[in-house]
Amino acid sequence: MKTATPPNIQMVDLKSQYQRLKTDIDREVMEVLESTAYINGPKVRQFQADLEKYLDARHVIPCANGTDALQIALMALGLQPGDEVIVPAFTYVATAEVIALLQLKPVMVDVEPGTFNVTAEIIEQAITPRTKAVVPVHLFGQSCDMEPIMAVARKHGIYVVEDNAQAIGADYTFADGHQQKTGTIGDIGCTSFYPSKNLGAYGDGGAICTNDDELATICRSVANHGQASRRYYHDLVGVNSRLDAMQAAVLGVKLKHLDEFAQARQDAAAHYDRVFADIAELQTPVRQSNSTHVFHQYTLVVKNGQRDALQAHLQEQQVPNMIYYPVPLYEQEAYKNAGMNGKDSLPVTESLCESVISLPMHTELDIPTLDYICDAVRSFFEER
Ligand SMILES: *Cc1c(COP(=O)(O)O)cnc(C)c1O
Repeated sequence: MKTATPPNIQMVDLKSQYQRLKTDIDREVMEVLESTAYINGPKVRQFQADLEKYLDARHVIPCANGTDALQIALMALGLQPGDEVIVPAFTYVATAEVIALLQLKPVMVDVEPGTFNVTAEIIEQAITPRTKAVVPVHLFGQSCDMEPIMAVARKHGIYVVEDNAQAIGADYTFADGHQQKTGTIGDIGCTSFYPSKNLGAYGDGGAICTNDDELATICRSVANHGQASRRYYHDLVGVNSRLDAMQAAVLGVKLKHLDEFAQARQDAAAHYDRVFADIAELQTPVRQSNSTHVFHQYTLVVKNGQRDALQAHLQEQQVPNMIYYPVPLYEQEAYKNAGMNGKDSLPVTESLCESVISLPMHTELDIPTLDYICDAVRSFFEER
């Protein structure tokens, strides 16, 4: 086993990335400071236009964070208290939180064990006459299988709000061969620019994205106190949710590197895959053939109840790691029994919460660091 002093490994290395982009980022941020256009203004408009172009989306509405993006999207759909919204139980809490906050009913469903994503079949089984929307989450950086999901949603007349917080930049390929970016396929897509996300700001940020002109107008209004086109005239009860110019300046620089960031993550993932391929107790990330994977997380499934022991071993070896996610949403104190439709457990979600572990994943992983992490994982299985 390796005895060398471990490198200072980070789960997410924002510092080295900043140092690489420092000249451009410092210049852009200084321009904002000098301009005093701290809210809205040219940097926010430019980033919005750049992101519309990158995503090939008609409308991007920047906002304060990813959770706000989801809330604004759901507010724009005009849902009524008690309306049901289908959401995976294996996701970050924000997805269900906004549903509950708006007094809608989160109906939690299971995910597919390979990709960790919801499928059209799972969604269709949960649809009732009260269902108004579904929020598919492109978990860990890979698209849900959106074409059948859109078909089921259209068949039942429900809205699709994509939670694209972890997958910005991923491409989904339709049966006819055409591709679309995740977040631009459903009625509305929502993303987060939280610093550790694939396109991360240096603070909070988020965006809503839609190809529907009418929904775009409503989202823009909801995000701006429900103000319509005339200043100080308010048609809706809205919220105050803005992307500040400093964050837009940082994001504008980073957007130009987003595809190269994805490539670096994919290279690191391929390295992990190669080393772990012959470890029978590990399930490496399953790639869906019709989606690219932008690896927000590199998440292993550890078989035979060994996850916690592997985690302890990695801790000892000073290899950072995280459990995304340790608890099914419906077992969280705040969401106990929330809309489980009579079922009291979802088997895939339960099993994933007990068996997943995520390894360091970011844009600055070099070969010695990857080798150190891989050796640490391998030594656990070799010692038994
Ligand atoms: C990060 C994240 C959010 C929330 O984004 P914030 O910007 O932190 O509010 C929502 N959903 C998922 C799946 C996320 O990973």
